[in-house]
Amino acid sequence: MENNLFNRLVSRLSCCGNVGADVWHALLVGLDDGQKQELARKAQELSRSIFGNRVYVRALIEISSYCRNNCFYCGLRCGNNVAQRYRLSRRQILECCREGAALGFNTFVLQGGEDPQQDDEWLAGVVSAIKAEYPDKAVTLSVGERSRGGYALLRSAGADRYLLRHETADNGHYRLLHPPIMSAENRQRCLGDLKEFGYQVGAGMMVGSPGQTVEHLVKDLMFLDELKPQMIGIGPFIPAAGTPFAGEPSGSVETTLLLISLLRLRFPSALIPATTAVATLCSDGTQRAVLAGANVVMPNLTPPAYREKYAIYDNKKSSGSESAKQLQVLGCKLEEIGYCIDYSRGDYKT
Ligand code: SAM
Ligand code: SF4
Repeated sequence: MENNLFNRLVSRLSCCGNVGADVWHALLVGLDDGQKQELARKAQELSRSIFGNRVYVRALIEISSYCRNNCFYCGLRCGNNVAQRYRLSRRQILECCREGAALGFNTFVLQGGEDPQQDDEWLAGVVSAIKAEYPDKAVTLSVGERSRGGYALLRSAGADRYLLRHETADNGHYRLLHPPIMSAENRQRCLGDLKEFGYQVGAGMMVGSPGQTVEHLVKDLMFLDELKPQMIGIGPFIPAAGTPFAGEPSGSVETTLLLISLLRLRFPSALIPATTAVATLCSDGTQRAVLAGANVVMPNLTPPAYREKYAIYDNKKSSGSESAKQLQVLGCKLEEIGYCIDYSRGDYKT
């Protein structure tokens, strides 16, 4: 597109009012390579002006590969007969936290399938135990759709943040990705409840999920504009064995990076991770995501014996810079691009 128009559209991202669908659409499909680079440069500059050259780290503990849901894209879906299942005990999770604390982490992210055995009461007990031992550290949960009462209980147990990607803001696309028992409406109800209870909330979507169009992405961006989440997680879709979408192509890393830059420019203070999915598809994906405006990395602290069993998609990376025990590898990668690790809690600041 013409450069004057490009500059005008980019400046719309820092306006208070809504960004129209036409603006998002043009920025998603109308930029040439030079403009994409310029956009990434602006996003990086903005990110540096707020966070400096620092990237927050969160220790990711994958607490269960059992899931009652059957999302068509996910390797943990209950209908996946080739999935390997495990669940961590409370003792194992606390052991992971101790290991993470010794490594210097100040946020623990407990993520898992919707495992009926890890119900609200059980999880609240685990969160309380972590907070009793580490009152100053943040606990983030990413354990799917729960009742309003469940979210309230977990919040009162001490959970600080909750990651629940909205996945897609388009109802028809949502139905294409999920069985009829699941709905975009309930997902969004959950996000509303989480906000109301004072969690720092993370939403987001896969990029290039089957059936996704540019119009869907525009709807996603407009949905995020309404929700104003504190954290925004996006990553490319990657096919998973044993799912109906096993033969589908992966989403685009380039589009993911473009979206990270757009999101940074629209939500300057947001916590935006360089996701494992980007690192899985591209060996320098973490660096490229940071250079596009991401400011969080979530190294994996799941006990090695279970890591391969948490196969949400094929060939998921969990070693090297993706491993919590090898933080120095991540540190070197960040150093190569002029960044360093920030070990602090990294709460959302307005
Ligand atoms: N069960 C919880 C939930 O659904 O929110 C948390 C775990 S779930 C595995 C975390 C995220 O993984 C999902 O929100 C989804 O966006 C992502 N995911 C699942 N399958 C994926 C795939 N095949 N490719 C990329 N991301 C995927
Ligand atoms: Fe379960 Fe989450 Fe995977 Fe859906 S995306 S099958 S809810 S783990």
